[in-house]
Order: sequence, then structure tokens, then C-alpha cells
Amino acid sequence: MSDDDLTTGGTVRPITRWGTPVMHQPTKPVTVFDDELRSFVRDMFATMEAASGVGLAATQVGDDRSIFVYACPDDDDVVHVGVVCNPVVTLPDGKDRNLESTEEGCLSLPGGYAPLARPDIAHCAGLDAFGEPVEIDGTGLLARCLQHETDHLGGTVFGDRLSARSRKKLYEHHEELAHLYPDDWPVTPKKRSAIDQ
Ligand code: ZN
Repeated sequence: MSDDDLTTGGTVRPITRWGTPVMHQPTKPVTVFDDELRSFVRDMFATMEAASGVGLAATQVGDDRSIFVYACPDDDDVVHVGVVCNPVVTLPDGKDRNLESTEEGCLSLPGGYAPLARPDIAHCAGLDAFGEPVEIDGTGLLARCLQHETDHLGGTVFGDRLSARSRKKLYEHHEELAHLYPDDWPVTPKKRSAIDQ
């Protein structure tokens, strides 16, 4: 059975916001790979899709297990879909290390974007929702996604990686658009802005 089977049939859950304690603490390793876990993964896929995200960590739906889902394009626009429990990211160093600065956002701080330099390739290893080993090599947005989601599971949000000045701007962008996102978003969809209409 592949993880792709878990991308459907889930229930959309409210997305937890920055400032909620679970988002700023390290998560616990997944040790039980049962139907409850796979049902939770389905809910994570449903929530990510409802929010038009490319990745979602368990902490973003208020759960403290080390697990994330993704449906994210790489540098060649190939969309990769999967789930990783207990992820470990390895980044290149030496001459293979190239930093790329791109606007980054987070479903848990909706509307906020800020440029952040990260390595342009990333390797991620962990276990799937059945406890089988998985490995992903990411380029482009997928490389960024693997780093961003694994950060979440260590209790780090991308604002933690910004300068104080850049972080202030990020919060200003978020504040401008926050009124469009209901408290239980994406259970209740995003409101349309004047620009959308
Ligand atoms: Zn995030």
C-alpha cells in the first residue's frame, strides 16, 4: 500500500497559528504506525489541500508527533507527494552548498512572506505512515519545503531564522491580511479580498 492512498478521505482541521505552544517545542518521535496515525495523515492531507499549501507539519494542526506531509513541486515542476515521520534533513556543505534566497511563507502565519536564504538542495530521510523507510532528494521549492517542515517538528518556525527587522516586516504583512483568515481556517474558507473580487 502506498502513501498516495492516504491523500484522500480526510477531514479538514483548523490550522494552528504561531504563538501556540505546540508550535514552538520539539515534537515526539512517531513510534506507533497504526490506523489512527494513517487517519491523522489523511486529515493532514485534507487540511493542506484546503489551505492550498505545499507542506504541513503535525504541529500545525496542534499535534506533537514528528510527522509532516507534502505535495510540492521541485525545480523541474515535478510534484512530489508523501508523508515523512521522524524526518532527518541533510544539507550539502562545502562547494556543493548554494544558498538561494526566496520568499517563504507559512500556513500558520497566513498572508506573511519574507525572503529567506536556504540551501537549494536537501535530502530528507524518515519513515512512511507504515513504518517503512523513505528518502527524498529535493530541489527548488521541494528543498525549501523539506527544510521548513522538518524545522517545524523541531519547534522552529521560519520567522526564527529571520533578522529582527525582517521578522517585523513579516508580521506587518501578516497583520494586513490576517482578517481574511477565520480562526478555524481552512475549515471555514479564506474570505475574498477586494482585489480578488
Ligand atoms: Zn510552516
